[in-house]
Amino acid sequence: MGPAAGAPCRCGGQGGSRADPCGVLCLLLTYLSVGYADYVILEHVLLQPGFRGSLWCPFHAVAFNLIVLMLLVCHTRAVFADPGVVPLPDTALDFSDLRSSSCKDAAYQKSHSNEDWTVCNRCETYRPPRAHHCRICHRCVRRMDHHCPWINNCVGELNQKYFIQFLFYTGLASLYAMGLVLATWLWPIDRSSASKASGAEGGVPGDRVQIAHRIILLVESILFGLFVMVIFYDQLVSIITDETPVEQLRNRLLKEAPPRGGSHTRKPKIALLREVFGRGFVICWFFPCNCSSPAAGGGPSYSYLPNYDV
Ligand SMILES: [Zn+2]
Ligand SMILES: [Zn+2]
Repeated sequence: MGPAAGAPCRCGGQGGSRADPCGVLCLLLTYLSVGYADYVILEHVLLQPGFRGSLWCPFHAVAFNLIVLMLLVCHTRAVFADPGVVPLPDTALDFSDLRSSSCKDAAYQKSHSNEDWTVCNRCETYRPPRAHHCRICHRCVRRMDHHCPWINNCVGELNQKYFIQFLFYTGLASLYAMGLVLATWLWPIDRSSASKASGAEGGVPGDRVQIAHRIILLVESILFGLFVMVIFYDQLVSIITDETPVEQLRNRLLKEAPPRGGSHTRKPKIALLREVFGRGFVICWFFPCNCSSPAAGGGPSYSYLPNYDV
């Protein structure tokens, strides 16, 4: 029928198209936005007269840049990590006997772990439960949540943790930036030196540039902050209900209780969260490290291919 478990595959790890123009554009926009925010915070907020002499200046500079660093590391991991691409078999599979009951011998019938495997006609391969085909990556991805142009990658079983961490640090950086801009603008530490320096630099023109940068950063922070908070909330709901957006849509269309991969699992919420963030300490959930990764932490695992008979 098909290859045995462990058969060589045509393409093992991550596959799919990464040359999606929208994805590349969103990646560039992300780096540009983060770089701009860091520039405005340092150049037009913290290093401005009235604040740069304060001890708070180096403190906020280090704290903000640490958050930005975490944001970039999580983003990079989400971009380059394998989301859980289903490997392709080395040789083309013959699915002609799929509907034939004769192929379902006793051993196969007993193979409980294989009963939810399905066939992807586009990848022409078997895929584990909850795997779905991504039309942009052109591959099936395990527990696919959605394809995200902001990471130019699918969000799936193996990189969802990094994606959520990226959202978390982006939200945190947005809040921090908003707080710094507003606090230093409305309540400068040394109001007299700020106004003196403003006058020495020509006053109005320099001030206008600074105000323009601050307003742009405020708008950027509000837009990105709200955007990532909504997605962050959706991600958490999707995890604790054990239903990806793809499954939600499918179940809504079918208008019936989810037969698999849905909230029927009745797993405790903490167990569902651990499947995504790993079984390490909760503090590890905030770091894009392997020690708490689902793979290392004992998340859901599948055999390489179902134990089909050759
Ligand atoms: Zn597929
Ligand atoms: Zn994709």
